[in-house]
Amino acid sequence: MDEKSQKTIRCLITAGPTREYLDPVRFMSNSSSGKMGYALAEAALRIGWTVDLVSGAVSLSPLKDVTLHQVISAEEMYEVCDNLFDQCDILIMVAAVTDYRPKVKMAKKIKKKGESMMVEFVQGVDIVKTLASRKEKQVVVGFAAETDHIEENAQYKLEKKGLDWIVANDVSCPDIGMEADDNTVMILNSEGERWDFGPEKKGIVAEYILERVRASVEYSTSGSL
Ligand code: C5P
Repeated sequence: MDEKSQKTIRCLITAGPTREYLDPVRFMSNSSSGKMGYALAEAALRIGWTVDLVSGAVSLSPLKDVTLHQVISAEEMYEVCDNLFDQCDILIMVAAVTDYRPKVKMAKKIKKKGESMMVEFVQGVDIVKTLASRKEKQVVVGFAAETDHIEENAQYKLEKKGLDWIVANDVSCPDIGMEADDNTVMILNSEGERWDFGPEKKGIVAEYILERVRASVEYSTSGSL
């Protein structure tokens, strides 16, 4: 395919944590910094893709030429992704989505009383699994932050969530992974292939991931020129 006849690839990326509020000031979340998702958005721009970035609450600056959709909760992230999914060619789901949310969000700040308190949590939507179940041409890439049995857990998620690719990383070590500037990844795909890369700066890791998935995105969109 020559350069001119190539369709611009539309890339949907999620990044950062989601938050589930218990009351107006307290929430459950995780330590995701958003750095990996933002690095992927920059790398995708560099190879000429258009990028929609759906970001949870992070302290990173918005990226020039990237359409930013800021969200707080998993439900909000799902709604934005659900609206954008049909037009995208690739979804890269990097966000560390909270799996559970409090059954009830109190309208007023919870007062301290007694020595313990019980909060009931209910499961939220699995965004990537739900979207992957209705994919047509889209290539769907998930991430898996693991502390043990990395390959087995990632392989299980690849299959259970219906993904084309999964990028697994070891978050048991504080120097790499969620909040760090560096990452080490194991990339698996539904064809049974595997690549290992890093430790490297997240920008370099992002370029490596896109090099791996790029051919499959171009192949799956080549029929819709
Ligand atoms: O949390 P888990 O390890 O299952 O996450 C694996 C993948 O699933 C990640 O790509 C994450 O963004 C996605 N995920 C999701 N919705 C959830 C939980 C995880 O899309 N509720």
